[in-house]
Amino acid sequence: MANSLVEKAHRIRQNLAEIQGRMAEAARRSGRLAEQVRLVAVTKYVGPVEIRLLVEAGCILLAESRPQALWTKAAALADLPVRWHLVGHLQRNKIPRTLPLVEMIQSVDSLRLIEALDQQARRLGNPIPVLLEVNISGEPAKTGLPPEELEPILVQLPRFPYVQVQGLMTLAGLEGGLERAHRDFADLRRLRDRLRPVCPEGVRLDELSMGMSGDFEAAIEEGATMVRIGTALFEGIVP
Ligand SMILES: *Cc1c(COP(=O)(O)O)cnc(C)c1O
Repeated sequence: MANSLVEKAHRIRQNLAEIQGRMAEAARRSGRLAEQVRLVAVTKYVGPVEIRLLVEAGCILLAESRPQALWTKAAALADLPVRWHLVGHLQRNKIPRTLPLVEMIQSVDSLRLIEALDQQARRLGNPIPVLLEVNISGEPAKTGLPPEELEPILVQLPRFPYVQVQGLMTLAGLEGGLERAHRDFADLRRLRDRLRPVCPEGVRLDELSMGMSGDFEAAIEEGATMVRIGTALFEGIVP
């Protein structure tokens, strides 16, 4: 386990370089350029000290799954040029504090949330980019919208001009390993392709946020434009 700050910095650089290398290889296998897949660093397992090391190593796109943790860490790192995504459930009463801090909300899972986000983003005068979170595996414990609920939401988006839906986000099913992950990720891509023709003008669903530490290469091979990685970035740092 890396204990000193110098050791931690070294380990984080190593982890980041290895992940970026594997991402580039997977992008190449899917016929794309490394730059077409973004790494979103999920920082929920570490504190501001480790996040600073990650930022110094060149990773500035960060995510948290709990709004309160995002508020705390964003405040602690306010001097750094970082960008935050929220990747976990957002209750409507937490919108006012969260919205000014984030570049994107990847975990939008209801029309009520879209309505509330639109209102608050309108007050702030800045549209908020979001992804719709989809429960693609159909596992009951999973969060996100059932696939059949997407179309009714998409067709209503013109009512909410301050919410910019840029794509879909999912987590692969827990059971079934990499084979299952490939299938879930391919299902999300096909769902996106089917939904594109019913999207209102200006909604393109270009972004597919899928893949975590255990399955990000599978996700990239199936068309991910963003992978969300926590554990693998902080291996050797976090017990
Ligand atoms: C924690 C989390 C991740 C990162 O998972 P790892 O397996 O630690 O890489 C990605 N997405 C969401 C929504 C998460 O909550």
